[in-house]
Amino acid sequence: MLDPAAFATEPAPGRECGTCTLCCKVYDVPSLLKPAGQWCRHCRPGRGCGIHETRPQHCRSFHCLWMTQGWLGPDWKPERAKMVLTIDPATRFLLVQVDPGSANAWRADPYYRQLKQWAAAAMPRRQHVVVFLNKSATVILPDRDVPLGVMGPGDRIVARERRTASGMTLDVEKVAGPE
Ligand code: SF4
Ligand code: SF4
Repeated sequence: MLDPAAFATEPAPGRECGTCTLCCKVYDVPSLLKPAGQWCRHCRPGRGCGIHETRPQHCRSFHCLWMTQGWLGPDWKPERAKMVLTIDPATRFLLVQVDPGSANAWRADPYYRQLKQWAAAAMPRRQHVVVFLNKSATVILPDRDVPLGVMGPGDRIVARERRTASGMTLDVEKVAGPE
């Protein structure tokens, strides 16, 4: 069950990264000047971190949702799914950071179907599911996907309800942050 209010931050019993190292590719790590979508120069893909003892705090404290949520099944292990899930600590949006080497992985089932279900469940809470390919965002809504382009620092996703003849829908846009 997707309930952002109840999410743990420590690994669930029995969860280990094992051969997965995908978070060391898909995210930027500012302290290492590592851009999103490129392997960290310290990563040994499939084996782990080459500077494990001295890795940045940013890396030490990171656990993806697959690690912390025991109910996410083996399909969602990042090395298999080709995407890493997290919850944004501020907005509680579900963020899906896709491996650029498998850029369309999120469009295939079971992933796409599940992302749509989570999007429908999150909408009443005014939370959203956002797929990122490097810094480029797409908001997943129950009835459509909304590409927003590259999100800069401080940019926000704003959604407004709009009544239509067939019911309520959402208009989603990117609002630029301060220069
Ligand atoms: S993406 Fe998750 S499972 Fe994979 S290495 Fe990172 S924390 Fe571990
Ligand atoms: S320093 Fe280590 S843990 Fe951090 S991104 Fe690089 S390889 Fe991964």
